[in-house]
Amino acid sequence: MRCPFCQFPDNRVLESRSAESGHSVRRRRECLRCSRRFTTYERIEFVPVVVLKKSGERESFDRSKLLQGIVAACEKTGVAPAKLESIVDEIEAELQQRSAREVSSSEIGELVLQHLQSLNEVAYVRFASIHRQFKGIRDFVETLNHLQNTVESAPAAAVAHAAEPETSEPVTSEPETHHVPEERAGVEAASMSHS
Ligand SMILES: [Zn+2]
Repeated sequence: MRCPFCQFPDNRVLESRSAESGHSVRRRRECLRCSRRFTTYERIEFVPVVVLKKSGERESFDRSKLLQGIVAACEKTGVAPAKLESIVDEIEAELQQRSAREVSSSEIGELVLQHLQSLNEVAYVRFASIHRQFKGIRDFVETLNHLQNTVESAPAAAVAHAAEPETSEPVTSEPETHHVPEERAGVEAASMSHS
C-alpha cells in the first residue's frame, strides 16, 4: 500500500488492532520515506452470490430463505437447530469460495440434499419432494430407492449410522466447523515484515 502523501510503496506497521466488531483489522502505518502516518483497514471481501431460479429470475442469495426451507424439511425430526444453521453456513461458505458468482437454485437444493442425506432420512425425502417437485408416489419411491442404494453402497457410513441411537439425534455431534472465506482483501503481507 503506497503512502498517500509521497506514494512510496514501503511502510512499517506501528499497531494492529481489531476493528468494526472484529470484522476488520485496523493498522497504523508509517511511511519509510516521509515518516508520515496513515491508517489502513483490512477486511474479508464478501462477494454477493446470485441465484438463478427455475423461473429464470435472478435474486441475491438469501441465507434466511435457505434456512427456512431446511427448517421446514426437518420439522419434528429432532435435528438440532444449530445443525441446520451449520448446513447453511457450509453451503454459503462453499458458494463464496467458488469462482462463479452465479449458482442455480437447483444446484443449491442438491447441496442441501447432500447434507440431509447423512443427517436425517425423513428430512431428506421431504426436502427432495419440494425441491425436485415430486408429482406422485413414484417420485417418492425412486428417491427412497436411491437413498437405500446409497446406504448399501457405503457400508462404512451405514455402520456408523446404525450405531447411533434410533430414538434421539446425536446432540453431542462433532464440533461445528465454520468455514471462513479466504481473505481476499489485498492488503500486502510484505509490509508486515517491516514491523
Ligand atoms: Zn510517504
